[in-house]
Amino acid sequence: MIHADIIIVGGGAAGFFTAINAAERNPNLKIIILERGKEVLTKVKISGGGRCNVTHAEFIPKPLSQNYPRGEKELLGPFHTFMTGDTIAWFEERGVQLKIEEDGRMFPVSNSSQTIIDCFLFEAKRLGVEILKNQAVKIIEKEDEYFVLQTPSETFSAQKLVVATGSNPKIWRILEGLGHTIVPAVPSLFTFNIKDSRITNLPGLSTDALVKVLDKNGKTLLESSGALLITHWGMSGPAILKLSAWGARTLSPLNYHFNIEVNWLNSLAEEDVLDSLKEFKSFQGKQTIFKYAQFELPKRLWQNIVKFSGINERLTWAEATRENLLNLANQLTSANFEVTGKSTFKEEFVTAGGVNLKEVNFKTFESKVCKNLFLAGEVLNIDAITGGFNFQNAWTGGYIVAQHI
Ligand SMILES: Cc1cc2nc3c(=O)[nH]c(=O)nc-3n(C[C@H](O)[C@H](O)[C@H](O)COP(=O)(O)OP(=O)(O)OC[C@H]3O[C@@H](n4cnc5c(N)ncnc54)[C@H](O)[C@@H]3O)c2cc1C
Repeated sequence: MIHADIIIVGGGAAGFFTAINAAERNPNLKIIILERGKEVLTKVKISGGGRCNVTHAEFIPKPLSQNYPRGEKELLGPFHTFMTGDTIAWFEERGVQLKIEEDGRMFPVSNSSQTIIDCFLFEAKRLGVEILKNQAVKIIEKEDEYFVLQTPSETFSAQKLVVATGSNPKIWRILEGLGHTIVPAVPSLFTFNIKDSRITNLPGLSTDALVKVLDKNGKTLLESSGALLITHWGMSGPAILKLSAWGARTLSPLNYHFNIEVNWLNSLAEEDVLDSLKEFKSFQGKQTIFKYAQFELPKRLWQNIVKFSGINERLTWAEATRENLLNLANQLTSANFEVTGKSTFKEEFVTAGGVNLKEVNFKTFESKVCKNLFLAGEVLNIDAITGGFNFQNAWTGGYIVAQHI
């Protein structure tokens, strides 16, 4: 049996951040990371399209926490201890510069996730953290004050255990055995599959819009605004991804079949748009409706909407009937689309679900039901919208575990 002071199960973002910070605080501790794979930090490697969106340029705890559909309340306190600014400083102190992109996402200046991995591997080695690969933990039992862990080839023991295994259902079952309850996993951060003539020829087009998810009776269940990206399969972009994250639990029982309403003019009301259309009729009567996009909409989108409203390509504003204008105003502000499924968002995808947050003390990230068991990262029922927030959860959790362990 191999004994250590601290055993960390999971060689991912949260596991490494915990190990390095714990070793730094107390270099005399024997710290072992057990990783089931033959490589560590594989998700960091592929994250952010290979660039690793490390964190987000939001430096106030409250608005930062509002990016977490699950974990908003619980992370507020921890963010006062370690959050985005601390992440930037942490990496800078170790020679990794981060940069801010226009939308607030932060990446290493190198534009390569390997920079983050190299930093972690260097630090772990410098501080004597042992990294054991091909060690899938299959059993965790508590014997007196010690956790005893079994992998196919070895037995380990430690008084302090950190579980940072991400979304691994097998580990969730083991944690149930230690007294935890697990919130069932459902996908979060996905794009909407939509087949519709209004968007079929527009992949790659992006525009700001307000999007509502409707229930069977047409009532709004969720709404979100921001850039909407039209894809080959339907719709993506921040406006849609935010809905997928906040709606992860609502949309799963619907089997991802529901209707959305898109206001292509953001918050403009249908009546106000109708008034503008009437003005176009009065003041630019000779112009063909189809030919010139209005409201600064991308031209091809405008033309699809005009056609879908039943307006002939040669019709001028002067010739438009009241019905034409009503239909157009409706299509511009309340366009209904049928969503028939979801697709994976390749830049970043996460799972909603995990260890019930009521069972964790967020001052320490220690389990309330099993002493000396600490949990960090996606193993918890915490997940965020896209933008670097999911890693920030791993860094914050890992840091606080290290502080208390
Ligand atoms: C394609 C993709 C891109 C992403 N991009 C971003 C991004 O740019 N920014 C962002 O903020 N978030 C991103 N995310 C989300 C982010 O990767 C996760 O939130 C984050 O990795 C969670 O960290 P973690 O340490 O909790 O889990 P993980 O990083 O998943 O690490 C868990 C580790 O535990 C190991 N493990 C599991 N079970 C066992 C076991 N029984 N025994 C031993 N080891 C075990 C796993 O092999 C793994 O190495 C992305 C996700 C994906 C899938």
